[in-house]
Amino acid sequence: MKILPIKAPPTEFRAALLRWYRANRRDLPWRKTRDPYAIWVSEIMLQQTRVAAVIEYFERFMQQFPTVEALAAADEDRVVAAWSGLGYYRRARSLHAAARKIVNELRGNVPNTRVALLELPGVGRYTSAAIASIAYGEPAAVVDGNVERVLERLDGVARPVEQVWTRAQELLAPKAAGDWNQAMMELGATVCTSVAPLCDQCPVQTWCRLPGHDVRKAQPARNKKELICGLAVRGKKVYLRQRGKDESLLPLMWELPHLESSDNAKVLARMKHSITNSDYAIVVVAVEPKAIPKGGKWMSIADLLRVPLTGITRKALRRTGVL
Ligand code: SF4
Repeated sequence: MKILPIKAPPTEFRAALLRWYRANRRDLPWRKTRDPYAIWVSEIMLQQTRVAAVIEYFERFMQQFPTVEALAAADEDRVVAAWSGLGYYRRARSLHAAARKIVNELRGNVPNTRVALLELPGVGRYTSAAIASIAYGEPAAVVDGNVERVLERLDGVARPVEQVWTRAQELLAPKAAGDWNQAMMELGATVCTSVAPLCDQCPVQTWCRLPGHDVRKAQPARNKKELICGLAVRGKKVYLRQRGKDESLLPLMWELPHLESSDNAKVLARMKHSITNSDYAIVVVAVEPKAIPKGGKWMSIADLLRVPLTGITRKALRRTGVL
């Protein structure tokens, strides 16, 4: 690929993209507010999760924890339970820890600069710039996978990551930083998609050096795994175990016990579930209460709604009619 020199951003380019964004942006709940707390929650939820999946969780979470004070006052288990199904639960724990820091050390004020936001647990380079620009108008560019792809096609050059951040900052419309960042990401998400970009609908096609260029990168191989979950029912209670606090994946969450084999057991459900780069084929089987592995707890439906469940367990309980 030909390497082109970085050029100063044309004013018309910025105007065309902002005009397109303001006329076409998706109507998303976190775009109806400038509340830094709500924007922060949305940005944490949007890390590694699709917009469509986040909408429902965001609205429910904001009803349950409408302010940073409400979030800080909640038990961690309740916060993780509200996150249950969104995955990457460390985000929920960091969000909760950050809320407590804001309430205890910052008198409830969400930090208002990118640099200060970086001090919060779970807030990194992308998230700090996103919150600072969208909530406070700070001229700080963001780079995510969408922005990187748009810039690669626009400029006709695949840059090392540091140079992508520099280029994004150069193009940023400083007086409309929040809209600008969202416009770049929206363009990548809805028009300049990784497969089959819609170049004929693109507001900045005039400036694009590689319209339609396929920038797909090789995907890492996915692991295929099998999992047998045992469902034991006693009266109106089911038996769950809690994962250890040192588990690298889903620490302290509650789940159905895992079994080594499903021989002779009654199969209640079969389902598929994907976590990070693993695809699970799951079989849920009935287990007699007396045959259940030790170390867990019998839980009522009310308990199940209060504790953080793994995504697989929530799905299994729904599929078998328990929840
Ligand atoms: Fe992307 Fe096509 Fe627009 Fe270029 S013209 S930025 S490839 S959508």
